[in-house]
Amino acid sequence: MIGEMVISDIIRTQRDFFATGKTKEVSFRIEKLKNLKQAIIEYEKEIIQALKADFHKPEFETYATEIFVRKEIDYAIKNIKNWTKPQKAAVPLEFFPYSAKIYPEPLGVVLIIGPWNYPFQLIIAPLVGAIAAGNCAILKPSELAPHTSNIIAEIITKHFTSAHVTVVEGGVETSQQLLSEKFDHIFFTGGTTVGKIVMEAAAKHLTPVTLELGGKSPCIVDYDIDIEKTARRITWGKFINAGQTCIAPDYLLVDKKIKTNLLDGIQQCLKEFYGDHPQNSPDYARIITQKHFDRLANLLKNGKICVGGETNPSERYIAPTLIDNVSLADPVMQEEIFGPILPVMEYTDITEAISLINSRPKPLALYLFSQNKNLQKRVLHETSSGGVCINDTVMQSGVSSLPFGGVGDSGIGSYHGQASFDTFSHYKSVLHNSFWLDLKWRYAPYEGKLSFLKRIIGGWGVGSGE
Ligand code: NAD
Repeated sequence: MIGEMVISDIIRTQRDFFATGKTKEVSFRIEKLKNLKQAIIEYEKEIIQALKADFHKPEFETYATEIFVRKEIDYAIKNIKNWTKPQKAAVPLEFFPYSAKIYPEPLGVVLIIGPWNYPFQLIIAPLVGAIAAGNCAILKPSELAPHTSNIIAEIITKHFTSAHVTVVEGGVETSQQLLSEKFDHIFFTGGTTVGKIVMEAAAKHLTPVTLELGGKSPCIVDYDIDIEKTARRITWGKFINAGQTCIAPDYLLVDKKIKTNLLDGIQQCLKEFYGDHPQNSPDYARIITQKHFDRLANLLKNGKICVGGETNPSERYIAPTLIDNVSLADPVMQEEIFGPILPVMEYTDITEAISLINSRPKPLALYLFSQNKNLQKRVLHETSSGGVCINDTVMQSGVSSLPFGGVGDSGIGSYHGQASFDTFSHYKSVLHNSFWLDLKWRYAPYEGKLSFLKRIIGGWGVGSGE
């Protein structure tokens, strides 16, 4: 573990490097983004092995959800010249002959704290934004995915100077040591409880934060759907990464008319995806720790299990499980599940589903399966969530042009694509005057000038009555 002195030394070194102005050069940022991409290509095998060692993550899923972060790098490289350009701002007539521009500038030294569930991607994706915006960064990957944490440290140490980007590995104590320091921004991904701790620590230094948190993301299923495709997309989004996905559908709200058919469809998909014994499937991950395994095993006591329910503590295996007949008071409907357990609730009128969602903290994602355009409009209009995906699950997080983040309890701020650049930038407003004209109406003595001011405030052409 790194001691307090060392952390403050790293920050000082990064501040000195930032002060040289090197990170402000767009060519430097592009070069570093290219290095990062190259490093991911070079370390592809090791990344796959690390995730397999951490929680048996299948190679395909590592490509689709971790190595996929290369797309974010490509997107940043392609757009960075546009993003870094100062933008012209309109100036009102009475400000003639001023001109105005908005300049994005880097914040300085930023801290990025990651979770264990997508342990590579959720450190690297914010880093792309931090580098693109011209910052220095300290990364703190999750200690619960130690192999991935090690590989991130190796990659960064090899391809970056510690004055620019460095990794500080460790657990809660290390995180707390980091949080006691002053940063120019803290980007945190994790649970709501720790999110509050991060915000409290940041408040002491008036450090701005981005909090990418979790919560219970509902999935509404109307009767006007293609059942087979709906079942397949829900099964995929729920059980990828063994359900340990912040935007996995947490629970289903299904129209009573199609509930039985949908559950049959999901059961069928589970067989197709993972066979009769998911425990033997190479395509199904494990639960990250014993503590999370025990927590999830307890949730299996709720409602009536219609598929799955088997566990194997020695492997931290929990079968993909569907639970019917749950009540809102059951723990499985009270806490974020974050595992391969899918409770199902039914509704007879969409109003019930909407009011249930609105009675709970605002979720990170909301899913709606329906071909009914009016219903789509209604759900969009009457609910609030970090994001929405209609007729699919999880895919919204892969579109770089869509800002990704929560609202209310599910988080503060967003990233991906330009939103990442914006998150790690300060937009500096600059107003420019010149010397060829200097109207005196704003200077004292004010005598005789008020009526003119009133005309400006009231709008040109509006009489002041004076
Ligand atoms: P977590 O909050 O337990 O830990 C996240 C990070 O915080 C880790 O690096 C950890 O070392 C550090 N940490 C833990 N306790 C701390 C403390 N007391 N003080 C300071 N730092 C501390 O989260 P997790 O279990 O790693 O991840 C799961 C949670 O993350 C879920 O709630 C999930 O929804 C959320 N999540 C959100 C997103 C998103 O993009 N919004 C993505 C993935 C995960």
